Amino acid sequence: MQSNRQIFLQHLAQTSATPLMLEIVKAQGIYLNDAEGKQYMDLISGISVSNVGHAHPKVIDAIYQQSKKFSHLMVYGEFVQYPQTQFAEFLANKLPQHLNCVYFTNSGSEATEGAMKLAKRFTGRAEIISMKKAYHGSTQGALSLMGDEYFKSAFRPLLPATTQIRFNCFDDLQFITEKTAAVFTEPIQAEAGVVLPTEGYLQALRNRCDEVGALLVFDEIQTGGGRTGSWFVFETMNVVPDVLLLAKSLGGGLPLGAFISSHEMMLSLSNNPVLGHITTFGGNAVCCAAGLAAWKVIDDEHLINVLGEKQTIFQNLLIHREIKAVRCSGLLIAVEFETEKKCFDVIQRCLKNGLLTDWFLFASNCLRIAPPLIISKQEIEKACEIILKSIDDEP
Ligand code: PMP
Repeated sequence: MQSNRQIFLQHLAQTSATPLMLEIVKAQGIYLNDAEGKQYMDLISGISVSNVGHAHPKVIDAIYQQSKKFSHLMVYGEFVQYPQTQFAEFLANKLPQHLNCVYFTNSGSEATEGAMKLAKRFTGRAEIISMKKAYHGSTQGALSLMGDEYFKSAFRPLLPATTQIRFNCFDDLQFITEKTAAVFTEPIQAEAGVVLPTEGYLQALRNRCDEVGALLVFDEIQTGGGRTGSWFVFETMNVVPDVLLLAKSLGGGLPLGAFISSHEMMLSLSNNPVLGHITTFGGNAVCCAAGLAAWKVIDDEHLINVLGEKQTIFQNLLIHREIKAVRCSGLLIAVEFETEKKCFDVIQRCLKNGLLTDWFLFASNCLRIAPPLIISKQEIEKACEIILKSIDDEP
């Protein structure tokens, strides 16, 4: 009989030459347990998904209760489904007034795709600008916006009229013109290794978009939902986008994304042609129920308020001669090493020492720290102890 690992390698599509191959049989809170009984502290939350930890009882209950009523009834946008309406209202109440209309999708990539189509329809323009080292998803539209040739070039031709400018480069704002339908950016570039906007940059970007009539789209798929110490990064930057993208933590561990705009703007997907974006599973009732329960936990348990303190503990403890920099925004943290090899070695040794971490797609010399927001201060101390030990361990 084949082991699960053999089946995994043989019958599941492989996209990595070196998959981690952990066989997790249970995940609870911030801990993962593998088939051999070893426990790992989860310091990456399935890449910024499990913000309230794994198997939160309120999320489990919401999934169970909703599954008993209904899960899938009809493709998106035809039936009035209570979990969707409740979650959309919850989000609208957290957002500025013009971000009041939610289109729920299956994933982050689909949210990007929907927003690209919305921008084209609303402005009547074709060009979309994004940033170098940006990640907006892996479907071909979203890939066209990616700011990295290595991951893109094998899939060309991609979408025409898509170009990338440098994040934080004021000079490059001149490339945004009357031809531009929208500029897509993460307000904090996650996969670039947690790159924060410099003083005044997002305001200047907003001003330039207003000047030429281009829409500003913020991708908060990784940062939204409390991870950086506020519900959304843009709240702390004094800049409001025209369209907001969410996913990852949005579904409380189930697949869910969204693009959000004004009601008026969203109407452009309902005429000429009608059904401007179609999805079967987007906004699935169980996913919406799970997501709403998770986001309510973040609210009710005041998880965001203590994030600054948690960030500071990481910053104060992660001091080592081999650590070149620690870039943080709440619990989205990049620990920079001199080389990719050092970073990969540390990741492997952390795993051996019972801690799961990762690198960043466009910053492979940086260790990713993005634990569930429920991580306790003692657990942060323990995590830092393991990381520091792993830096020093012999290979
Ligand atoms: N945007 C950002 C900022 C992301 O981090 C991701 C996922 N890593 C995506 C978009 C795409 O989301 P998904 O994988 O759900 O398609």
